[in-house]
Amino acid sequence: MAKPDQPDNSPKKKDSTRSINPDAAMDYLQRKKKNPDALNLTEGILKGDRVLLSQAITLIESENPEHQEIAHQIIENCLPHAGKSIRIGITGSPGVGKSTFIESIGKHITGLDYKLAVLAIDPSSQLSKGSILGDKTRMAKLAVDSNAFIRPSPAGTSLGGVTRKTRETIILCEAAGFDTIIIETVGVGQSEMTVHSMVDFFLLLLLPGAGDELQGIKRGIVEMADLIAVNKADGDRLEAAKLAKRQYRNALHLFPPKENDWMPSVVNCSALNDKGIDEIWDIITDFKQKMTTNQFFQKKRQQQELQWFHESIDALLKQYFYQNSEFKAALAEMEKAILEGQRSPFRAAKKLLELLLKN
Ligand code: GDP
Repeated sequence: MAKPDQPDNSPKKKDSTRSINPDAAMDYLQRKKKNPDALNLTEGILKGDRVLLSQAITLIESENPEHQEIAHQIIENCLPHAGKSIRIGITGSPGVGKSTFIESIGKHITGLDYKLAVLAIDPSSQLSKGSILGDKTRMAKLAVDSNAFIRPSPAGTSLGGVTRKTRETIILCEAAGFDTIIIETVGVGQSEMTVHSMVDFFLLLLLPGAGDELQGIKRGIVEMADLIAVNKADGDRLEAAKLAKRQYRNALHLFPPKENDWMPSVVNCSALNDKGIDEIWDIITDFKQKMTTNQFFQKKRQQQELQWFHESIDALLKQYFYQNSEFKAALAEMEKAILEGQRSPFRAAKKLLELLLKN
């Protein structure tokens, strides 16, 4: 029997009383040696340090492979501490009042002593090379709230990139102790679908007195909503807002019931005057409670995890394929053959995949 302070070289028995797993400890030391930043940043995040959280998110957003490697380490370290939040997606056309609304409900949420992280997906930044939300004065009160963290996330080079980065940012925010995550989307193109695939609750903001087409709202988005809020229900728009509420309520009845048994509702609110905001938060709280009870909360998250897994395979395969110099040459050759009418696009793609599998 080896003494406690000497290494035990006897054949290993499973000893459940040992508190430290020597392999894990060695693994930890090796990782620390190889990658001190990842561990320092992880420790900071777990302590709720916002500066280090921001630095880690910047690494996630970086295209630099070394940064990505550190980012992956941090995400793996944070994963066991993530997941304990409600993730809320908020969408609506530009000008509907999203940032005013997020500020209003955000103050309500932090006032109840929850910790709120606000992330924005901003597809237009790809064109403008800057973020709409770069100007934090959009949510001035939340920006100085000690219970809130606002992070504008510029869009990556591809939609898939946006999905990955936002999902990973959610994990870090949760590990840092944020129990409420709001993900804003500017309501352009595919972004609603993307956000819908990573949230628990999806809120659609609409304007009074404007038809779906006028607001650029696709039918599919109304169908995805767990709640519709007709904003700007104040002043001379109040009556129009009430009418829009009734119309959307009727429209919602035409959709088949959702698998999770949740009946989406329509409410009026005035983000500017903080009216109807507490009611919306109560609906979200009620949703979380009901979905937890009927186990759909967990079920949906598991489905989203699997979807993320498959999307990651797609993305990695593409990345592997397109970054490999050998394939680049073969790709150029195939493109030429297609343009010269020597190969069909399908057969050319198949040929390239065969080359990939041989390697
Ligand atoms: P976003 O582009 O969707 O983020 O919209 P903003 O929050 O920037 O709001 C656009 C404009 O609508 C701003 O001038 C806001 O002050 C105004 N606004 C937002 N919410 C309300 C509201 O509830 N009532 C009224 N009357 N105006 C609002």
